[in-house]
Amino acid sequence: THFGAEEVPLHDKARRVSGVFSSVAASYDTMNDAMSLGVHRLWKDAFVRMLSPVPGMAVVDLAGGTGDIAFRVVSALDAAGAWAPSATAATTPPVRVLDINPDMLAEGVRRAASAGIPPSRATFAIGNAEALPLPDASVDALTISFGMRNVSRPAVALAEAVRVLAPGGRFLMMEFGRVRHPVAAAAYDAYSAVLPAVGAVVAGDAPAYRYLVESIRRFPGQEAFCGMMREAGLQRVRVTDLTGGVVAVYSGWKG
Ligand code: SAM
Repeated sequence: THFGAEEVPLHDKARRVSGVFSSVAASYDTMNDAMSLGVHRLWKDAFVRMLSPVPGMAVVDLAGGTGDIAFRVVSALDAAGAWAPSATAATTPPVRVLDINPDMLAEGVRRAASAGIPPSRATFAIGNAEALPLPDASVDALTISFGMRNVSRPAVALAEAVRVLAPGGRFLMMEFGRVRHPVAAAAYDAYSAVLPAVGAVVAGDAPAYRYLVESIRRFPGQEAFCGMMREAGLQRVRVTDLTGGVVAVYSGWKG
């Protein structure tokens, strides 16, 4: 575990986002369970199934927070024999979690320790999605789950993703989307409207939930974000809706 010095100047948005996540780091699971009624666990399972990590794959999880995606990738790699005593042990690098917020990372480090996941399988370090501390063409799979919405300049983050991916590498992202069915969309809007009140009761933190709802509304819809991915140079761009588009999984490949 290494927390590098953060040299990149933070935008106002970045500073505000950072405050939100510092305040929720310890109760992050409770908050997600409450706002998604537990369904975020299934979305994350589905996301990692779509990635289908294989032994030897260099995976970086951006905005990886407390490790929800990374731990699932570690399990999948483990099940695929990546760390079997026999062969590939030396060739499968640890899943690297990068996040801008040290409090989220610290919670992830604690969780890894209590789940018995050693640094040979998962590492945690400070990293800004807009200025990745990674060499060009060095990553096989770059994941980002519920992180892009918080990034000040998504186009810059996409350009960075393309820079660090190896040729043939994959970008896989999960984010809140637009609900397509009008009746479901109306129900979802009504639910969003009461979320801050729910947040106040469940987590004592209405502002964090208000931020959540606003950031979802402001984020591009599925078609628009696919366009941004193509503009950044990703190929074979696809989006898969989960739960009617409440959440969308975006996939694109480098070269
Ligand atoms: N990926 C985790 C998950 O799915 O549970 C955490 C998602 S959490 C909603 C959003 C995370 O994005 C926070 O941990 C926050 O610190 C991080 N974040 C926000 N802006 C970032 C940036 N520019 N670069 C890297 N991480 C960022």
